[in-house]
Amino acid sequence: MTVLILIVVALIAIILYLYFYRQRGKTTAYHPYLESLIALLENDDDLAMKRLKEAVNIDSDLFDAYLRLGDLYRKKGDAARAMQIHQSLTARPTLKKHEEKKLYYALAQDALDASRPNRAISFLKEIVKIDKKETNAYKLILRIYEDMRNYSDCINVYEEGVFKSKDENRRAFYYASLARDKMEKLPEGDQEGEKEVLNLLRKSLRIASDSIAGTYYMANFYERENDPKKAREHYLKIINQHPDYAFLIIPHLEKVSFELGSFNDIIPIYEKITTQHPKNFSVAFALADLYEKKSDVDAAREVYLKLVELFPRSALPKIRLLKIKTEDETLLSALDEIEENFCGQEYKCSNCGNTRSDFSFLCEKCHAIESFAPVL
Ligand SMILES: [Zn+2]
Repeated sequence: MTVLILIVVALIAIILYLYFYRQRGKTTAYHPYLESLIALLENDDDLAMKRLKEAVNIDSDLFDAYLRLGDLYRKKGDAARAMQIHQSLTARPTLKKHEEKKLYYALAQDALDASRPNRAISFLKEIVKIDKKETNAYKLILRIYEDMRNYSDCINVYEEGVFKSKDENRRAFYYASLARDKMEKLPEGDQEGEKEVLNLLRKSLRIASDSIAGTYYMANFYERENDPKKAREHYLKIINQHPDYAFLIIPHLEKVSFELGSFNDIIPIYEKITTQHPKNFSVAFALADLYEKKSDVDAAREVYLKLVELFPRSALPKIRLLKIKTEDETLLSALDEIEENFCGQEYKCSNCGNTRSDFSFLCEKCHAIESFAPVL
């Protein structure tokens, strides 16, 4: 009996000791943790890291401290170590839903910083498994696929995800871009491949009949297929429905019109657009260029003068006016050189101001579509 009492007393003593020991551990771990939070607020990352390490050494249950410690390693440029710390947390069985989501967001960011976009997507997909309504995770997945120019997966995410008010122009853009990518890799005479491209382009235009990307690539497709008539129809559709995008199609339209023997129809088309949209630089400039080719110098000069008035910062119409004025061969070749080397076209995103030297339907900075226009 005495032995039994002794055993019970010993057991109680052990339980009490363990309980108080843990409590004391937790209390002391909070001090360095609190100090680390203050250091983070004061942007003292080194001190924060030191205190976070102390905190997790005292109490390895502190999820938030581990998470922040991993984040700090990432911030310092050590994405591999960050991922290692964050990954070690995934094995914890006691994580709450919101903690798990936080953890996978951190892991996705680690993977992105380590230039492993596919890994980032797999972490974000874990979040979607936990919470199907997590719109931010879907948005991030879509952005990563856009960065990777993986349009077939953009379509999958966009059509199956939680994008409530779907932007049909964006969906059409994905189909058009997927078609363009396939078209670029298409070997000559691959009829099955051509059919697939055409179907994707048709789908793009069924989704949004006025999609600029859809219409443009459809025109490119017909041009490639030696069908200048259908190519011209689509190029005309762009210049008539989206005259701001005329800059994209002018050389193509002139080429297919020449092939069809309808080059003379172009001047009236440009004249009509210039009358309706006097500030359309690309069309007016192309019109003046054609007047010059037809040796109608007076008409060309008039258009260039108008452009100088409307776009005082643009050098191109001024150079053209100088060229018209002179017959001096040396001066003319110098002006040609200036036009060729110093008037290179730049494009600017109307949404975020990002500039690039070649045209793109997708802004890599802000992810807007159909937002680039020539810098004048
Ligand atoms: Zn942008």
